[in-house]
Amino acid sequence: MAVLTEEQSMLRDAAKSWVQEKSPVSAFRKMRDGGADLGYDAAAWNEMAEMGWAGVIIPEEYGGSNFGYLSMGLILEETGRTLTASPLLASALGAASALMLGGSEAQKSEWLPKIAEGAVVATLAVDEGAHHAPEKTALKAEKSGAGYKLTGKKTFVLEGMAANLLVVSARTSGQPGETAGVELFLVPADARGVSRQRLQLADSRGAANISFDGVEVGLDAKLDGGWELLEKTLDRARAGVAAEMLGSAVQAFETTLDYLKVRVQFGQVIGSFQALQHRAAKMFTDLELARSAVEAALAAIDADSPDVPELVSLAKAKMGDTFHLVSNEMVQMHGGIGMTDAHDAGFYLKRARAAEAAFGNQAYHRDRYAKIQGY
Ligand SMILES: Cc1cc2nc3c(=O)[nH]c(=O)nc-3n(C[C@H](O)[C@H](O)[C@H](O)COP(=O)(O)OP(=O)(O)OC[C@H]3O[C@@H](n4cnc5c(N)ncnc54)[C@H](O)[C@@H]3O)c2cc1C
Repeated sequence: MAVLTEEQSMLRDAAKSWVQEKSPVSAFRKMRDGGADLGYDAAAWNEMAEMGWAGVIIPEEYGGSNFGYLSMGLILEETGRTLTASPLLASALGAASALMLGGSEAQKSEWLPKIAEGAVVATLAVDEGAHHAPEKTALKAEKSGAGYKLTGKKTFVLEGMAANLLVVSARTSGQPGETAGVELFLVPADARGVSRQRLQLADSRGAANISFDGVEVGLDAKLDGGWELLEKTLDRARAGVAAEMLGSAVQAFETTLDYLKVRVQFGQVIGSFQALQHRAAKMFTDLELARSAVEAALAAIDADSPDVPELVSLAKAKMGDTFHLVSNEMVQMHGGIGMTDAHDAGFYLKRARAAEAAFGNQAYHRDRYAKIQGY
């Protein structure tokens, strides 16, 4: 477990108590049952922003607190425990990272303070198919007049319905599959030619498919850094989603362990069966390894280490495997407790499947890790 500074411990404790008090899993269920179009509770998001969570990675001169990625990971872990849905990951981590790493002074001063305040919800619009494959970007950005014209489609855009600002990967040259020619553009979601379609994902969070039909933006809409910027931004988002998954998986495990200690079957508490104890022990050790991998990735980002890509892929793959296992075991070990929707176990399982797919699943990251290692 990472050694935390005093500030980080305070941030984590504040997040822990807010989440448990104000945003338990029952709040997620209520939001889901209310069919909230945004995929999160706007009032809860306002409270999160008021506590400064949307500005954790953002420098102080742009209205943030500059606490770094490990700090943001601690908050995401706590929100993950109760499946709290919010734009924290997409906006305050993903889109904010793109602006911090590739924005001009003008772009940063325009958008970062609004993101830090929670007044603007921004997101990354990167994927174009069922699987994460950023190099396959086909969405075109053609020079036109005094700017660019964007044409194409993006899929599975997290918080795509709520977003006011889209950070869109687009191709100014080359073919899908090539990394050269991929750039990031800032597109206001209300720009002419942008249309979005709400998606109903298994985890009931807000996501959309978005079409860009000759959307015109100025030359100043482009961020600086091309493919390298996209990769760096995605690695930050991947580490963030892994931190959130860690919180969800730990909570799923602890809930299951509590149940094993009280459920009586065959005249005994089922936790007394060695077969189940071994399965619980495997989950525990996998979770410890996953925590180390996730914290190492976040710390590497804060240290701007050259190992970030491999550590992030390691973390996302290990966390994906672990949350997959723990969420399956949660359903299995609660055998006979209820039907699909009545018990929270189903929410964790569905969230695991959606989070596994976000910004690259286990297969994607194993492959990327192998390539980085020279295989
Ligand atoms: C989230 C969720 C969603 C569900 N969705 C559905 C659904 O869609 N459709 C549906 O039909 N059902 C569903 N169920 C119900 C569940 O699948 C069934 O209740 C379950 O399959 C019962 O199987 P079982 O025989 O293992 O249970 P039980 O026999 O009641 O087992 C109880 C406990 O004993 C343990 N156990 C069982 N046998 C042994 C053994 N030999 N030694 C040691 N321990 C043992 C089990 O792991 C479990 O923890 C769902 C349950 C949950 C929690």
